[in-house]
Amino acid sequence: MRRHRNVKIVATLGPASNDYQTIKALHEAGADVFRLNMSHGTHEDIAERHKIIRMIEKELNSPIAILADLQGPKLRVGVFANGEEELVEGATFRLDLTDAPGDVTRVNLPHPEIFAALRPDAHLLVNDGKIRLRVTSCSRDHADCVVITGGTISNRKGVNVPDVVLPLAALSDKDRKDLEFACELGVDWLALSFVQRPEDLMEARELARGRAAILSKIEKPSAVERFNDILNVSDGIMVARGDLGVELPVQNVPPIQKRLVRRCRAAAKPVIVATQMLESMIESPMPTRAEVSDVATAIYEGADAIMLSAESAAGNYPIEAVTTMNNVAVEVESDPTYREVIEASRTAERQSVADGIVAAAREIAETTDIKAICCYTQSGTTALLTARERPRVPIIAMTSLMSTARRLALTWGTNCVMSGEKIRFKEAVVSAVRAALAEGYATQNDQIVITAGVPFNIPGTTNILRVAPCNERMIYSMDPE
Ligand code: PGA
Ligand code: MN
Repeated sequence: MRRHRNVKIVATLGPASNDYQTIKALHEAGADVFRLNMSHGTHEDIAERHKIIRMIEKELNSPIAILADLQGPKLRVGVFANGEEELVEGATFRLDLTDAPGDVTRVNLPHPEIFAALRPDAHLLVNDGKIRLRVTSCSRDHADCVVITGGTISNRKGVNVPDVVLPLAALSDKDRKDLEFACELGVDWLALSFVQRPEDLMEARELARGRAAILSKIEKPSAVERFNDILNVSDGIMVARGDLGVELPVQNVPPIQKRLVRRCRAAAKPVIVATQMLESMIESPMPTRAEVSDVATAIYEGADAIMLSAESAAGNYPIEAVTTMNNVAVEVESDPTYREVIEASRTAERQSVADGIVAAAREIAETTDIKAICCYTQSGTTALLTARERPRVPIIAMTSLMSTARRLALTWGTNCVMSGEKIRFKEAVVSAVRAALAEGYATQNDQIVITAGVPFNIPGTTNILRVAPCNERMIYSMDPE
């Protein structure tokens, strides 16, 4: 399905978007990637959603990426007998290791290591920092706190402890099981939560064994400090503004977002800007002006993707939220200022022949009337390098690997078309011309640019560029049959 925008949309699925009808409507409204949150729902639920997405993908014949988001060492309270409780300022509240459902005086916090590391006067932030607790006394199995800022606390809300360095492994036992389950199911991307250092990716990589690409969520101060090293060992990045804005002062988030998005583009790795992009749309069919501006800012900055969390997973207007993002994207991308900003921020770190070829393809598309850049790619690298150029025309990534096509659904401006394995360049040119015509990127006699690596099927060999007219004569004259 042809989209008329470059930035991609990630929609998180949840209770508001479980069923075939809604997921299909989300995709049609513009969702390119679906995020399955492993913190919520059983493996059965996740498998069901996965099945529905693959069904839709097959029906519409357009590769869709599925991103499984591992909970990571995120601290969460247990459940409440009443589902939720109101904590009032000045009250006392206990966190403990007891399994019993919580009430207004206590709740389970199933992490023994946190009680060992907590000290009096440490702050605990619950529910994205909305509730603040201060520890008054603690032992190996509980912490007594006083409520500094009150609010509603409910089942499995997250807890951040910014004042204390917690000795937590990057993957919990649950994460290991979820990772294996998700890889077996056949997801395309794994997101690792609360990454603190580059080594945190090692175990996940070993366990994934290439079955899924790995994205690091940047939501800890230590991940911001070691960002370049983390980026080096990641396939993609999520600017996870929710926890980032709890662990660091909120005003630090926008400059970090800008820096991370730039670094990712320079490294030709996809970056998602996430959390609270259209938060008010959980309850309202209309976004606030500030939210629209936030979505627009991420697009002007050149992010590969923008994400919906609760808006699509648990809100009242999931489809409207995707439509809003789509409309903002189409408008921003047609603004001449957008092109100026995107072109001014092109950072050339060109080292390889492939870098030169993709830059040439973009320049030809700027100099003459070219309708699309078709790149043959097996690993996806050439498509990533082409996307880094942020060309004015659509990128058509031609690949015979479904896994590559799906992963690229997260990458700026990239549309994937499945093509059989190629042997001769002539054949590749004909297939590209056919695809550009069939998918509506070009009409009769329009020109396209085609890049490929010859001989075919050797990764990292992009070395050829051809400008070809899209017409029957071309197809006929070059048809190998
Ligand atoms: P989460 O991650 O939704 O899994 O918490 C995103 C964020 O923290 O912003
Ligand atoms: Mn988070």
